[in-house]
Amino acid sequence: MKTKLCLLYGGKSAEHQVSLQTAKAVIQALDLDKYEIHPVFITTEGKWIKGPQLSEPVQSIKELEFQDEKGKAPNDLSEFTLSKDGSYDVVFPLLHGPNGEDGTVQGLLELLNLPYVGNGVLASAAGMDKVVMKNIFAQAGLPQVKYVWSTRSEWKADQEEALSQVENEIGYPCFVKPANLGSSVGISKCTNRNELEAAFEEAFQFDRRIIIEEGVIAREIEIGVLGNDYAECSVAGEIVPKKDFYDYKAKYEDQDTALIIPAEISSEEYANLKAMAIKAYKAIDCSGLVRADFFVTRDGRALINEVNTMPGFTPYSMFPLLWKHTGVEYPELIEQLVKLALDRHQEKQ
Ligand code: ATP
Ligand code: MG
Ligand code: MG
Ligand code: MG
Repeated sequence: MKTKLCLLYGGKSAEHQVSLQTAKAVIQALDLDKYEIHPVFITTEGKWIKGPQLSEPVQSIKELEFQDEKGKAPNDLSEFTLSKDGSYDVVFPLLHGPNGEDGTVQGLLELLNLPYVGNGVLASAAGMDKVVMKNIFAQAGLPQVKYVWSTRSEWKADQEEALSQVENEIGYPCFVKPANLGSSVGISKCTNRNELEAAFEEAFQFDRRIIIEEGVIAREIEIGVLGNDYAECSVAGEIVPKKDFYDYKAKYEDQDTALIIPAEISSEEYANLKAMAIKAYKAIDCSGLVRADFFVTRDGRALINEVNTMPGFTPYSMFPLLWKHTGVEYPELIEQLVKLALDRHQEKQ
């Protein structure tokens, strides 16, 4: 019997287009003798539209952008939640950022008692919130950069106090980031007070909470983790952005960021990063997959920057490339993730 796989893609976040690319690639990689593919497109307004079951791979993204003129209500999930029992064996949320990677969709799938690929509610929510994530990592003894955080109301109440806290506790250069986001959206590097003030304003456009971190000069190394209670690590990869830092443009628009796989690091360094990746994975109770991002400073210190609970997942993204170099090709990676989802669902019952 074929596995009925529901693909959730699109979504309201800044990463809508990336998600469409991923959906197309996943569909092309799936073996249609083994899987029935049920696409569900989430529009940029947040409407969930069920498409027809796919009996052949799609050639273009256009074919995945279903139109539905009937209901125009925002956040309309009715077509999805009214699915009869047994419509799907497993759901694969191919979504990044808020309302996809942050535990909200995962919570809906829990309520519907549907097995789904990737991290559960807790890991998704903790992994999306940089303040909570860093607090948990600190408690787990993982080395990281110095950080402080602030709320929009604190900022409105006393800007001078907020700025001097950063100057006293962190200093320059520093990075200001919205607490809950990804793809470098809303992130600025600051080297003086004017930039810091502008960076606060910018980050508060995206979230009511922000984090301010000590800026380090470091190599950026990433490791893929795959598994449930027992998880394995991929080889390490290095990102070499051509500009000041790995910002949104460098991630999706410019073609000049180099991904070096495997990263040129010593076996001791690799072993240390692997241990840190697994520790981080366990600290927030991950399942399925995670991409753990590290800084390695010039004096050889390894710091964890973050984990991404739904990392970029096109065949040209770091996570699938790391696994390809580890010996797991893209179609096999998808199969393993589906199996992990079904195993975890079983385990919970
Ligand atoms: P994504 O989820 O797409 O990986 P993100 O939006 O969660 O990204 P970060 O990974 O925290 O953002 O930061 C984006 C980039 O900014 C990093 O890859 C790095 O180039 C730079 N950066 C972030 N924090 C620091 C820091 N403390 N010191 C030096 N560089 C930093
Ligand atoms: Mg991130
Ligand atoms: Mg991300
Ligand atoms: Mg990152």
